[in-house]
Amino acid sequence: MPETYDVIVLGAGAAGLMCAARAGQRGKRVLLLERSEKPGKKILISGGGRCNFTNIGASPANYLSQNPHFAKSALARYTARDFLALVESYDISWHEKTLGQLFCDGSARQIVDMLLAECKKGDVELRCGVEVTRVERTETFEAETNAGSFRAPSLVIATGGPSIPKMGATGFAYNLARQFGLKVVEPRPALVPLTLGGEEVLFREISGVSAPVVASAGEASFPEAALFTHRGLSGPAILQASSYWKPGDPVAVNFVPSRQDGWLIARKNDTPRATLRSVLREELPDRLADILAERLAVPGDLGNIPDKALRVAQEQLTRWTFRPRGSEGFAKAEVTAGGISTGELSSKMMQSTKVPGLYAIGEAVDVTGWLGGYNFQWAWASGVAAGDAL
Ligand SMILES: Cc1cc2nc3c(=O)[nH]c(=O)nc-3n(C[C@H](O)[C@H](O)[C@H](O)COP(=O)(O)OP(=O)(O)OC[C@H]3O[C@@H](n4cnc5c(N)ncnc54)[C@H](O)[C@@H]3O)c2cc1C
Repeated sequence: MPETYDVIVLGAGAAGLMCAARAGQRGKRVLLLERSEKPGKKILISGGGRCNFTNIGASPANYLSQNPHFAKSALARYTARDFLALVESYDISWHEKTLGQLFCDGSARQIVDMLLAECKKGDVELRCGVEVTRVERTETFEAETNAGSFRAPSLVIATGGPSIPKMGATGFAYNLARQFGLKVVEPRPALVPLTLGGEEVLFREISGVSAPVVASAGEASFPEAALFTHRGLSGPAILQASSYWKPGDPVAVNFVPSRQDGWLIARKNDTPRATLRSVLREELPDRLADILAERLAVPGDLGNIPDKALRVAQEQLTRWTFRPRGSEGFAKAEVTAGGISTGELSSKMMQSTKVPGLYAIGEAVDVTGWLGGYNFQWAWASGVAAGDAL
């Protein structure tokens, strides 16, 4: 006979650990199954090993989803300050790096240890190295694994998305959701470097150069750093824009975001002997300035360049249009956008509206945060929403 529990949580990542701890502490008998040899692997590598565990300004506006209202309820009921209070209750010291992004002073290991301690408080049974291969539903859910079968009336899908398959990430959550008749919004790589081809390969020459820009894709704009790479574009501004980018679309980059209209004409009047290249070198790293000046093709002293040409050059610098060939794909994507459709879930409980007892949380769901601690905040908040409802 398979062992029986109140709840089986599939996946001991950020969302699964949080959900299991919460349900366990409410008195549920919880089994948490993890295919890797250790829990919270993505937490451990996150934020360069220091885990950007939340963003103090997290609000629904920082998330992408087919239903932008879906995340409101869970995010309002378990906020960044709630998670921070938990972190502080474990004496984990932290700092704000930039833009509300909170990191551990020490190591991401502290966050995993904290979540494991929370699970222990709830008597959660964590089994690592156990891969769920199939789930059947009769009166209860039965999870088949390489270590036998387990049964429970409630099952939580917390197996994440397929980003970074090298770490064992898969689309298991989507197959399971589809098996139970739940719709899945086409998963796509997000927070991912973009690749350049054609004439734009020229920019690969300046691989390693970064600059503060405003990068825009679709309706969204991000004032952060862009980085040129040997394959194309990366850096926080580009990663953020990539989540809103669709194949075939341009990405617009403002290389002189602090400059007002008429700046180059004013420079012409003040310093007619300067060149576009020398003026750009005051604003940007030399190699980037040189490549932009070369492409703008207005050589000579500013004093000899007609105002109209300078106006056009400034417009181009303000809205430099890259046409990415593609992205570096799931192999390099920090998260997966899309996933189990929010239309299938209760926003308060994260429970399927079609299949009672079936829950989905974290990255497996079609809610994707910006770069900067937002994805973990969603994992905590959706984990708590389900953990409290189970
Ligand atoms: C390099 C990197 C850095 C990141 N840094 C940050 C950051 O600093 N801040 C931030 O907010 N976000 C960051 N993220 C994103 C964040 O890690 C994820 O959004 C978050 O981990 C999602 O949590 P989750 O629990 O939904 O999924 P996951 O953390 O992916 O957990 C899913 C778990 O399920 C397990 N699993 C999968 N299939 C099965 C199965 N069949 N049976 C049993 N177990 C299974 C997996 O092994 C995994 O442990 C980063 C991501 C990456 C890749």
